[in-house]
Amino acid sequence: MCGIVGYLGNGNVYDILIKGLHRLEYRGYDSAGIALVNPQGALGIYKTKGKVDNLEAYCVGKDLTAGVGIAHTRWATHGEPSDTNAHPHYSEDGEIAVVHNGTIENYKVLKDALVKHGCKFHSETDTEVLVQLIEYIRLNTGCDLVTAVRKAMKKIVGAYAIAVVRKGDPDTLIAARQSSPLVIGIGDGETFLASDATPFVEYTKEAVYLKDGEVAVIRRGEPLKITNLDNKTAEVDVHTLEMSISELEKGGYPHFILKEIFQQPGTLRDCIRGRVINNGDTIAVSGIIDNKEKFLKARRIVIVACGTSWHAGLIGKYLIQDMCHIPVDVEYASEFRYSNPVLTSDDVVIAISQSGETADTLAAVKIARDMGAFVFGISNAVGSSIPRETDAGCYIHVGPEIGVASTKAFTGQVMVLTLVAMAIAQLRHTLTQEQLSNLGHAILQIPDAVEKVLKLAPMLERLSLTFTYAHNFLYLGRGYSYPVALEGALKLKEISYIHAEGYPAAEMKHGPIALIDQEMPSVIVAPKDHLYEKIVSNVQQVKARGGRILAIVTKGDKTIRNLADHVVEVPPMPECLSPIITSIPLQLLSYYIAVNKGKDVDMPRNLAKSVTVE
Ligand code: GLU
Repeated sequence: MCGIVGYLGNGNVYDILIKGLHRLEYRGYDSAGIALVNPQGALGIYKTKGKVDNLEAYCVGKDLTAGVGIAHTRWATHGEPSDTNAHPHYSEDGEIAVVHNGTIENYKVLKDALVKHGCKFHSETDTEVLVQLIEYIRLNTGCDLVTAVRKAMKKIVGAYAIAVVRKGDPDTLIAARQSSPLVIGIGDGETFLASDATPFVEYTKEAVYLKDGEVAVIRRGEPLKITNLDNKTAEVDVHTLEMSISELEKGGYPHFILKEIFQQPGTLRDCIRGRVINNGDTIAVSGIIDNKEKFLKARRIVIVACGTSWHAGLIGKYLIQDMCHIPVDVEYASEFRYSNPVLTSDDVVIAISQSGETADTLAAVKIARDMGAFVFGISNAVGSSIPRETDAGCYIHVGPEIGVASTKAFTGQVMVLTLVAMAIAQLRHTLTQEQLSNLGHAILQIPDAVEKVLKLAPMLERLSLTFTYAHNFLYLGRGYSYPVALEGALKLKEISYIHAEGYPAAEMKHGPIALIDQEMPSVIVAPKDHLYEKIVSNVQQVKARGGRILAIVTKGDKTIRNLADHVVEVPPMPECLSPIITSIPLQLLSYYIAVNKGKDVDMPRNLAKSVTVE
């Protein structure tokens, strides 16, 4: 959560920082702020509650000349969103300014100690403790600022990515990280710093991902220097970015999320490319081929993830159990990490995170590796922490996802999990070649099938008008469609703020059926699969209680069409591939309902993408 941008160079510091903040706004938008050191050394800090647009309005008429600057868009963890709690925070003597992404777990102990030494605090944030601590160390030990940062880091417990500037020094920018992402862009005579590479991809393709416990010192006219906490020089490992600027723009769509929904035929093609080969007869997932011993001996698979990725993981469970006959547990990473997990070297852990930075999932990865399990990561962001911290993995290759509510990353994750299950089944011979080939051929048809489903958008837009003013929704499904129902409900909650509950359709009679009346629509995901007859009974149960039903069915379905108030028909698909197809109308439905309600669909309230805090 939260976005950090820093810049040192001869370009327009303010413009570069503001543009960068807009790119990172998907990570948090409670408040925004900027600290600029002008060529004469004056330090100006401007910050305000709300989005980056507010900050820009606030900065009109201010002295915005600078040689170096740092900026922040916040997702509050400690202290309400307010002007005072906005970053950058500064030391009491006004000497240094800091922006921070993450949480300082021992901030209370440190704050109490600093107060005893006479420090005064203005905000409720944990970040202010960090900046006061750095300055306290610098003043009381007489060390330089970089050493003070290093010493402070040794005292801090928690997750942080920080950027620091100092009054009087327009030529230095300091950065450090522990568990929160930070990447440095190396340009021609200029250096960028950001939570991800999107703020600087148009200026340079050369990126250095800072590692845990590293401190970077960026000085005008000098090469980038990275050290660890003991001041030992670390390697500067330069990566070439593959991202292009058009991926970060709306491309004619009114919202990023709509663009991302419509990108899915292409993103799924990218995801499949090179992995479903020989005309669909062979599945090639290199992370599995290269580690086949681990997958051959695996006795159990544990999937760890959060939010939408957890829903994809639940589909992964059905896929792997069906195709490979290996028991699979799916855990919320945030629960798993504190549940005294029992893992052995015969377990494979699959960690799923779009950003590759989800703090809870990353913590689960570390625990799993410490316990000797083989850890396989599924991420979208190339070079992010999860791909670096896992034994092997697979990128979903769907390109940057800017809309806070995940759409194309979800279908990409489900697709990769399908390929992973098939690759394991191929290895362990738990599917026949004929079964594998049939599925392989069907997968190659999925992008075209998704294109067909997207043609239903005008119909879903019309349907959305019928449902916009409902206050509660029930989403039901069975088997592979149960996680789809969960994901559909989450999408609606996230962007339209309507309460929605996803439920296994047969469980409904154990409680939620009591809620059904004319006022509460049920969205029932009911493609033709081996549970079809069962879900028809569930549809009847809802109908018998006067509930309004919108059903997602396979093209040509007659039975449910006669029962439901509205049906959306999707192309036929093998059962295990149906979630990719049935989830698309639910994404569109949520989108149009949220737009009808006038909500900010790309930046829903209280949410942020890339959840880098616990
Ligand atoms: N913990 C800090 C705060 O609440 C930083 C949160 C963030 O990552 O945006 O201000």
